[in-house]
Amino acid sequence: MSKRAIFLDRDGVLNVEKTFVLSPADMELYPQVGRAVKKINESPFLAIVVTNQSAVARNYITEQELERIHQELRRQLDTAGAYLDGIYYCPHRELLDETPQNRDYIMDCECRKPKPGMLLQAARDFDLDLKASYLVGDSVRDIEAGKMAGCTTIGLRTGHSLKGLQDPPGQIFDTLEEAVNFIMSNRE
Ligand SMILES: [Zn+2]
Repeated sequence: MSKRAIFLDRDGVLNVEKTFVLSPADMELYPQVGRAVKKINESPFLAIVVTNQSAVARNYITEQELERIHQELRRQLDTAGAYLDGIYYCPHRELLDETPQNRDYIMDCECRKPKPGMLLQAARDFDLDLKASYLVGDSVRDIEAGKMAGCTTIGLRTGHSLKGLQDPPGQIFDTLEEAVNFIMSNRE
């Protein structure tokens, strides 16, 4: 039987939105996030992060440094008894005029949201039923990626607060915990 996931954007959903998170010290979870992810862990849903990290293409951080930031994310969740089933990130950026940049990562990839590549990859890796899965995000790109993958989408007023949104998500909440509570009360 296919599994279901709640896809989570990272910056502005799990941790406080900063222009770039460049070190583990920049990783600051919103207060209710540990509880919210734990509720997902205690449900049939997988908790899977899908995050654009163009800081790598911009040469602000390496993939190794990004891994350390994600270790810190996992460590903070662990203190709340919560965990992530997967973290997918896009390190790319299409056509960047500015410097610095790392040319290895400058490409028109399939993973950078609003493209649904990371969700599709996770669906292959975990045998997910995307139509029975959810995406929670704070930006227009998140919502578009979730819709393209066939997921039910939920917007948050944290982080980018869905700025510029034209095609709204199914629901909008103030916090991840409220979004998770909604999913739990609506699932069959
Ligand atoms: Zn990419």
